[in-house]
Amino acid sequence: MMSQVVTRFAPSPTGYLHIGGARTALFSWAYARKLGGKMLLRIEDTDRERSTEAAVDAIKDGLSWLGLNWDGDAISQFGRADRHAEVAHQLVAKGLAYKCYCSPEELTQMREEARAAGKAPRYNGYWRDRDPADAPSEIAPVVRIKAPQSGEIAVNDHVQGKVVFKTENLDDFIILRSDGTPTYMHAVVVDDHDMGVTHIIRGDDHLTNAARQIIIYNAMGWAVPEMAHIPLIHGPDGAKLSKRHGALGVEAYRHMGYLPEALRNYLARLGWSHDDDEIFSTEQMVEWFSLEALNKGAARFDFVKLENINGIY
Ligand code: GLU
Repeated sequence: MMSQVVTRFAPSPTGYLHIGGARTALFSWAYARKLGGKMLLRIEDTDRERSTEAAVDAIKDGLSWLGLNWDGDAISQFGRADRHAEVAHQLVAKGLAYKCYCSPEELTQMREEARAAGKAPRYNGYWRDRDPADAPSEIAPVVRIKAPQSGEIAVNDHVQGKVVFKTENLDDFIILRSDGTPTYMHAVVVDDHDMGVTHIIRGDDHLTNAARQIIIYNAMGWAVPEMAHIPLIHGPDGAKLSKRHGALGVEAYRHMGYLPEALRNYLARLGWSHDDDEIFSTEQMVEWFSLEALNKGAARFDFVKLENINGIY
């Protein structure tokens, strides 16, 4: 028997719930609901400068207004910092990660040398096999994971298919900063694992991160969740949807008098389709939903269509 499906929506609380985020949440929600699973909400608030409580509230309000209920309490990623550090230190103890004591000047020099040699400016593994006893005492180290030095990493994605990354393009990246806080890459893996997430549905701007995240899963001996990276939404002019295209926040549509079911219907069609059906109920969407029906091409936001759909509801 397949274990229970667990999806998650993992917004960074740096602003309101925008159209792209709402669509990701809708797909994660629909998939969990269809299979009788759970959708969890994780607030990725590790960026203390940019995260605000007001944004957390705005995101929760937006989801609630759209009818996208999550299971259990929202989880704060920041609140799990000790656990992130613990896993990083476990990897060091296993010899799969190491402390790097390079100074900012040394890192700059390393990049410049690589560039001069016609190579990509990346960390060269300087502390990979060095004895920490030789480390300069004035430098607080970061923790870097040992990325495989040859071969490939394949992301088997429900939308993008099998995407292969050459490991020579992935350096020993940082999982724990010198102040002991985790990088985004590391925190996401530890949280998804600990939360029992079985399916990650998110924007395809995270696809290359997925390859790095798989390195962490493999190092810990954890199962890699199923993944579906959905193409970003574009504006009517074909460029990535941004503020200059008009209202980006779900909140704005709410105030303009759009109905949640109309926006839900419209968002569903921005990246997912069921035959030629334009108008459907949320129950139908949940019943029909599948990851395989997620579109591979970028969707275009079209205000006129949204207006028409709203008129029908
Ligand atoms: N917090 C990330 C974002 O807002 C999402 C991370 C993820 O889904 O893995 O883009």
